[in-house]
Amino acid sequence: MITAIGDVMREAYKRRWITTRDGNCSLRQRGRDVLYITPTGTRKTTIIPETIVRLPILESKLVLGDKKPSGELEMHWLLQQEDRTRCVLHLHPTYIVAAMMAGYDLHEVAKEFPEVYRYTRVGRNVPKLPAVSAELATSTCFQMTDPLGVLTCDVVGQASHGATAVGKHPWDAFEHIERLEHICEIFLKSR
Ligand SMILES: [Zn+2]
Repeated sequence: MITAIGDVMREAYKRRWITTRDGNCSLRQRGRDVLYITPTGTRKTTIIPETIVRLPILESKLVLGDKKPSGELEMHWLLQQEDRTRCVLHLHPTYIVAAMMAGYDLHEVAKEFPEVYRYTRVGRNVPKLPAVSAELATSTCFQMTDPLGVLTCDVVGQASHGATAVGKHPWDAFEHIERLEHICEIFLKSR
């Protein structure tokens, strides 16, 4: 499963959903008090299990030490709370970002496409907020959960920025983004 993090980032790069150093992915394995997350600033096409940052979880807190995790660590950690999910993936897919820039709410767009809504719950857009900020982390988690903290969607778009998805496995999260990206392309080309 840890190997899949690198595979997913390489595939995202190949599809031009990130540039070389963009995007991030985290993973938590059942029964293990460790959060695995991509390192900050690294070329994502070179990610292998040895380069993934391993952060121990002690008394529900991450032990950072001198490690250099992704700048979006807070967003990953918020979504990973309370066993909500195993994997969080954040990318910058072209048509998802373009559809938001054109003023569309992806939650509404997805209602037109059964190939998405049957398998992937799309949240309402996260407003435009600075990358790697606490506000982006909080707002993304807010849009993806209900007031009790239960996940209510699998993917959300983040205005002028990208998309974040959750899943049991890096490829599950990838598929949620892939479905949404695909229909955003169709939707925009139909306008
Ligand atoms: Zn980003």
